[in-house]
Amino acid sequence: MKTAFFSTKPYDRVYFDAANADGAHEIIYFETRLTRVTLKLAEGCSCVCAFVNDSLDASVLIALAKQGTKLVALRCAGFNNVDVNSATDLGITIVRVPAYSPYAVAEHTVALMLTLNRKTYWAHSRVREGNFSLDGLLGFDMHGKTVGIIGTGKIGECTARIMQGFGCRLIAYDKYRNPVCENELGMDYVSQDQLFSRADIITLHCPLLSETHHLINHDAIAKMKRDVMIINTSRGALIDTKAAIDGLKSGKIGYLGIDVYEEEEDIFFEDKTFEILTDDVFARLTTFPNVMITGHQAYFTREAVARIAETTLENITAYEKGKELANQVKAD
Ligand code: NAD
Repeated sequence: MKTAFFSTKPYDRVYFDAANADGAHEIIYFETRLTRVTLKLAEGCSCVCAFVNDSLDASVLIALAKQGTKLVALRCAGFNNVDVNSATDLGITIVRVPAYSPYAVAEHTVALMLTLNRKTYWAHSRVREGNFSLDGLLGFDMHGKTVGIIGTGKIGECTARIMQGFGCRLIAYDKYRNPVCENELGMDYVSQDQLFSRADIITLHCPLLSETHHLINHDAIAKMKRDVMIINTSRGALIDTKAAIDGLKSGKIGYLGIDVYEEEEDIFFEDKTFEILTDDVFARLTTFPNVMITGHQAYFTREAVARIAETTLENITAYEKGKELANQVKAD
């Protein structure tokens, strides 16, 4: 199946070429993101391979369908960037990689917590400059603190296991209880409001849906403990960034660690060193000493990227052979 591969980075090619060593798939790599402007590149390709910030709204899907696209193979878990109902109406099948390494994202989540708490990024710079003062580097014991996990699916459960190892108390909110979290890890499922008011650290692992959009807003922040730590490695729009900035300015939020940002499409995954940052909200976030931002790299481990490549190509093969699609994204 001729596949137009958007948002290609050099590391994608390495892992996809390895997974396609037998040449079974005809892949055309494009560096550009998939947008209304660039979709023409996919002309003649019955499959489009897309990533987290490629746009697959109704207008893009209509144009792709007219060009002959039959399959959209997402090489990620989240599908909030796809209008699944429109795709279904147009006869375009959507597949994704539902799980590749929950460990990768959970471990990065904990990396953000530890970095913010123990200020290792400041310490590293200081030591390199010959400054061995400890002023400002005071952290807190994670042991005994209450961690609130919103979304106890694959990544939430992995994060819970790590935090249990730290000796934290674990509370959770999810629409559906995970029996492993409840019975094996002894997690306490509470209401969202109880989680906000009881947790010292809040970490988000639920999908971005209309009901979870701006889950962390002014009201939610008002219910939280002073000096709370908030971590988001899920999707940017779970947090109302302007509300978070107000929370940081008032001192209510003591630490904010994010791997995702609600307007990340035009910022992340590119070297913008010599460009003027035009997003004033993002620019403000970067000025806080207690904010740590990484550019959507939580998934980025060798194991995860290899698994993404293998599963994506398996999904395409299954479609070509008319097999049952285990990883299909279906309309509600
Ligand atoms: P999952 O489907 O295994 O778990 C998601 C959990 O969220 C489920 O338990 C579900 O019941 C719960 N949920 C659904 N609606 C909810 C709601 N309204 N409130 C609370 N919980 C709700 O998914 P996963 O593999 O654990 O991934 C979680 C999210 O992580 C994905 O949606 C994706 O956006 C994000 N992600 C980020 C990266 C990254 O690199 N930063 C990589 C992979 C996934």
